[in-house]
Amino acid sequence: MFRSLHIKLVMIMLLLVTSLMAVVGAFLMTSVTSFYIDDFYAQMSETFGESNASFVHALRSEATQTDGAQRIQTMIETYSGTLGIDGRNRNYYILDARTGDFLAGSDEDGGENLELTENILTARNGNVGDQSDIAANYMDVAIPISGGDNSFIIYIRDNRSTVSSLNSELLLIILQALLVGLLVSVMLSFLLAKTMIDPIEKLTEGAERIAKGDFNETLNVESTDEIGILTTTFNDMASVLHRTLEAVENERNKLDTLFLHMTDGVVAYDGSGTLIHCNPAAAVLLNRNPEDCQYSELFEALCPFNHVVSLQRSDFIESELTVGERSVEVYLAPFSDEQRGGVLVVLHDVTEHRKTEDRRKEFVANVSHELRTPLTNVRSYAETIREAGDELSREMENDFLDVVISETDRMTNIVRDLLTLSRLDSGRSEMNMARFPFGAAIDAVLRSIELEARRHGHELTRDYSDSLPVITGDRGRLEQVMLNVLGNAVKYTPDGGHIHVTAGETDAGDKVWMEVCDDGIGIPEADRSRIFERFYRVDKARSRESGGTGLGLSIATEIVQRHNGTLSLVDREGPGTTVRLELPMIQPLGGEASHE
Ligand code: ADP
Repeated sequence: MFRSLHIKLVMIMLLLVTSLMAVVGAFLMTSVTSFYIDDFYAQMSETFGESNASFVHALRSEATQTDGAQRIQTMIETYSGTLGIDGRNRNYYILDARTGDFLAGSDEDGGENLELTENILTARNGNVGDQSDIAANYMDVAIPISGGDNSFIIYIRDNRSTVSSLNSELLLIILQALLVGLLVSVMLSFLLAKTMIDPIEKLTEGAERIAKGDFNETLNVESTDEIGILTTTFNDMASVLHRTLEAVENERNKLDTLFLHMTDGVVAYDGSGTLIHCNPAAAVLLNRNPEDCQYSELFEALCPFNHVVSLQRSDFIESELTVGERSVEVYLAPFSDEQRGGVLVVLHDVTEHRKTEDRRKEFVANVSHELRTPLTNVRSYAETIREAGDELSREMENDFLDVVISETDRMTNIVRDLLTLSRLDSGRSEMNMARFPFGAAIDAVLRSIELEARRHGHELTRDYSDSLPVITGDRGRLEQVMLNVLGNAVKYTPDGGHIHVTAGETDAGDKVWMEVCDDGIGIPEADRSRIFERFYRVDKARSRESGGTGLGLSIATEIVQRHNGTLSLVDREGPGTTVRLELPMIQPLGGEASHE
């Protein structure tokens, strides 16, 4: 298959050979013609020039004779060899100088067709006519010979047939040489093509392979010339390109993985608003697939597309979307310039953050409220005592002071519980892990609550084996948890109730549990999930009456979580409440669970 470079090479070679042969041919033919003309005039000058003055002199003296023309003819005949006269192409003529008539000569036609040339006219004026004209188809020389009354012109004329036939033969040879030259040049151009174009074709194939992303093969370097250097450079370039592409691919994979697994949503649009990228988190946060809807449907209300695109690259727009229950922070920023760029949308789920914020606000409001109530009581009772003065009986005064003391105790309890919670929250509260028998801890708690239970007329029963396992934990704090659960059972069960404590090991044998079951007021379904929250109380008045702060179960939950255990309500038929505490027997290496 001929490629254009092949054809170009052949054409160049053909053109080169042809033009070379044309120049050489023209030069040769001109040289031959000039040589022939020069030789003609050299012969003439040798015969009639000053070097042969005696011959010219002899001719003049012969001219004086009456048969001068014949005599001159005889003399010329003797010089015909030197003059190259052959009677066909080169002839001599003896003319009458006055009339220009032909008198004698070697021309068989007898000078019939002799034309009056420039040189003859010059000779008739008495001068030697030897002007040559390379363009004329003849060359001539006319020499005036005068003797006595006679004057003749010796006219020698060559019709250049010799040089013409020589040139024709030369042309034939040149044409033959041109033919051979053309053949050789075609063959040479093929050879050249093989050595030059083949490597270029291989380079082209290699480039095409690389364009398709195939970097497996390198090109063989077959020479050390420019093509060899080009091939080596090409191989180097391909390997650099390969490495660069691999690095880019690697970066892209990293980014893809990042986009795939990041919790923030990312959606990208090109300059025309067409979606070019979105990650799974974006679909989750928007609760719809961004591929199915336009920018205008999703974000136009937050900020028009053209406005975002026209922003400076470092600028961005921050806004917020509410998707169902979720709060999503939206950052809209342009990437690259206006023509080629687009808009990048980053979605950040702030639902938990907002909830935490709300909880914090609620907590602060609760704390303020919880502290304000006893403070108001303390202040009003103190004011009453002062204002009443002596009017207040001793008994009433003591009652009022009792209220002040109990309200102060309540505040103290709240502040103590808040401090405990704060320590647990900040992780400043260390758990003193040690091994202790689980059953002994329950026994101790039951002993300390027994009196209080009896005071309320409750029947406190227990059912657990004497050989409960030994567990690892902070015994003091865990007893505090049990006491809180048992204390609640005592508090929230009307007098004369039943409280039953059970304990044991889980079937898997890796945990211990304790359940406190009462037949008290119970917890309504709607409140069951919230009683572990801070300050949450089902019946505020009752809790306050019994000295509760609403923080007991929150503190208990924190402590239990630090032991990797659980504190929960058991769903059970009938009145009352059952609270279950479950703890692993062994704490993982490094002690308590990390606190967040
Ligand atoms: P408090 O100091 O008010 O007892 P807790 O955090 O210990 O605070 O308990 C939170 C709320 O859970 C209580 O106010 C009460 O309404 C409810 N509760 C806890 N234990 C029981 C129980 N055994 N029976 C009925 N209600 C209970």
